Amino acid sequence: MSDTWPNAARGTEETGIRRAAVIGAGSMGAGIAAQFANAGMPVDLLDLPGAGRENRNAPAEAGVARQLRIGGFTVPEAAALVRPGNVEDHLERLSSADWIIEAVVENAALKKDLYARIARHRKPDAIVSSNTSTLLRAALTSEMPDDIASHFLITHFFNPPRHMELLEVIAGPDVPDEIVGRVHRAGRAVLGKTTVACFDTPGFIANRIGCYWMAVAAIEAERHGLRVEEADAVLAAFGVPRTGIFGLLDLVGLDLIPPVWGSLARGLPAHDAIHRHDLSTHPTVLRQIRAGRLGRKSGGGFFRKNKTGAREALDLETGEYRPFAPVVADDLPEAGRDPKALIDAGGLYGDYAWSVFSRLVTYAAETVEEIAQSADALDTAVSLGYGWRQGPFALAERVGLSSIAARLAAEGRPVPDELQRAALQGVHLGNTRTPDAGLKRARVLRGTPMARLEDAGDGVGIVRLTSKMGVIGPETFDVLEAALDGAGGEFRALVITGDTRRAFSAGVNLRHFLHLMDRPDALDAFLERGQRIYERLRLAPVPVVAALRGLALGGGCELMLHCDAVVAHVETRIGLPEATLGILPGWGGCTRMLDRCLALESADPAAAAARAFTILQAGTVAANAREAQGVGYLDRAAEIVMHPDDVERVAIETAHRMAQDYRPPEPPTIPLAGGAAAAALAAGVSPRSDTDPDWHTTVARDMAGVLTGAAGGEVPWSASAHQMHALERAAVLRMVGRPQTRAAIDRIVA
Ligand code: NAD
Repeated sequence: MSDTWPNAARGTEETGIRRAAVIGAGSMGAGIAAQFANAGMPVDLLDLPGAGRENRNAPAEAGVARQLRIGGFTVPEAAALVRPGNVEDHLERLSSADWIIEAVVENAALKKDLYARIARHRKPDAIVSSNTSTLLRAALTSEMPDDIASHFLITHFFNPPRHMELLEVIAGPDVPDEIVGRVHRAGRAVLGKTTVACFDTPGFIANRIGCYWMAVAAIEAERHGLRVEEADAVLAAFGVPRTGIFGLLDLVGLDLIPPVWGSLARGLPAHDAIHRHDLSTHPTVLRQIRAGRLGRKSGGGFFRKNKTGAREALDLETGEYRPFAPVVADDLPEAGRDPKALIDAGGLYGDYAWSVFSRLVTYAAETVEEIAQSADALDTAVSLGYGWRQGPFALAERVGLSSIAARLAAEGRPVPDELQRAALQGVHLGNTRTPDAGLKRARVLRGTPMARLEDAGDGVGIVRLTSKMGVIGPETFDVLEAALDGAGGEFRALVITGDTRRAFSAGVNLRHFLHLMDRPDALDAFLERGQRIYERLRLAPVPVVAALRGLALGGGCELMLHCDAVVAHVETRIGLPEATLGILPGWGGCTRMLDRCLALESADPAAAAARAFTILQAGTVAANAREAQGVGYLDRAAEIVMHPDDVERVAIETAHRMAQDYRPPEPPTIPLAGGAAAAALAAGVSPRSDTDPDWHTTVARDMAGVLTGAAGGEVPWSASAHQMHALERAAVLRMVGRPQTRAAIDRIVA
């Protein structure tokens, strides 16, 4: 491991990419550079030289500063991995880059000129790629020498690069498979993207289908006489983001319509359906642009807030604004959630839904062979690029292929061959992503509604938290115990994982917890059982690895804190927010955090208690895994994984590796700071205005008592985990008796 932090994400070293360079520090280039840094990879970021003599790197630095402001970095420290520079003074830096990404303004001549300059500096094997949205690879490589052309691809990112999962990759016949493979692997392992191979056609996949859909959705809404609010509400039934169509156009910016849609139309032959719905020359769009109503960037487009702050919507007929009149989803068939019901219901909304949807499906079926390697690839690109729950083909299957084909035929419209065939044969056309494809399906040894024990083969047992958001209850404990019973016997390692991308575990099942709050004995037993099982995990004779995605909060975070190793998706939220409910982590979480902080504070008990107190008393939740390393929830050895669907596989590999020469930790003896330290910590808490100040300070005092050992009365100056657990339980039992705590938990459960 290098001594820089953030350290390299898992798998990056296998990609052959050790250092990257990005040229163009605008919204895309600086965002891509930030994502390299999030993976712990050093990156050069070059832009034009600044005008002033003093700081010629000002434009690139401004790009970094902007990413810091808008959340492109996981932690501010990551920005140190980005070295700003300019294309006049620092092109020689490109010679140390394994992957050079060009993200300058969309201008073919300018880009080609830059490639000629890059060619003089790049090392022989370095990959060069362009982030162009609208230019074809063939046009960019037309005068390029072979040695660089064979390493040149288009890598098309979506905005913002940190969060948009799609990366379209366009190679050519002159690029060796090994190079193409390297780009796909690096896009995934380094940048966390789901890569989709596209052919070299205008708009590639997502924008080709997405722009067509946007044009049809906007123009058909006007033709049907729908209000803009109505159109957005109808489209939401198809699982598109809540912005619908007109909200989305406002977000994109209407000034981009003529260049982006226009360029797409110019690149496509006359028979392409895009010419029948030409948004770039549409009168409403042009009128809006003339009036300077460009969308959010200009303070208003199809929607705006008027001077009094009230929302208004554009009347498509008159071109004037009028008060915003939302459509209640409940007024739509099946509450606007079922596209088929909406279409079948007919009427204004149903006819509009059909007119947009039937064109989308027809267009996707007509173009799929030309633009994508498969129907699945098209669906993946469109759903990830545009944030749809499903791609067009999966949607078509949901609505019914034969009914779509029959209605198109009845209306005298052409039925694309693809659709006809699939409808007739009842075969599968496309589907949604299968996120964990590639993982062997494990044998289930024990299943409950909350959790499952699986045999992943080769002696690895998997505990899968299958409850909603991975919440933890007695059945979870049953399964963890079954796993522990097999540790050292049938299992040489255990992996604990969530069941979906959304969560490892959101913590204790609060409904169950609330139910126990009036029965102190039962609550004590429930806490004690959790502590015992978590401690067994920690001291188990085999390694236990936590595989984190989505979130690990409260009791879920405590579970993770008792594992021997953690593999975490970089975007996992991690924390112990118990204090905000007026309780404290009572499944060994206080004890583990104190132990963690002792390691960070050279075993100084007062400093460790203070550090743990600061974190727990604030109910700190880290927004991502890098931040969690900074807080101390994850140690610096935790493995960070950039793609969420790689987490479980890496955790299983880690479990195998650790099992080879595993020695469990010794039960800890925890030095304690004592009563004076507790009093100092509690005294340092300032009352908060947003909660009951007495409650707040009492909770803080309870917490300080546990973390210093002072709550145990006479302080023994050191304690076993077992003794610490008794302090945690006693504190929780005191805390749940307070009406404010009950009210806080009630509010969440309600
Ligand atoms: P932008 O205008 O925000 O940034 C472009 C940057 O390039 C500017 O900082 C500019 O100073 C710099 N630049 C111009 N000429 C340069 C040169 N010769 N050398 C070095 N730097 C130079 O643009 P953007 O939105 O980041 O788009 C960049 C590229 O990414 C374009 O090709 C665009 O089509 C593509 N793209 C954009 C988006 C998007 O949503 N914005 C999405 C995908 C792809």
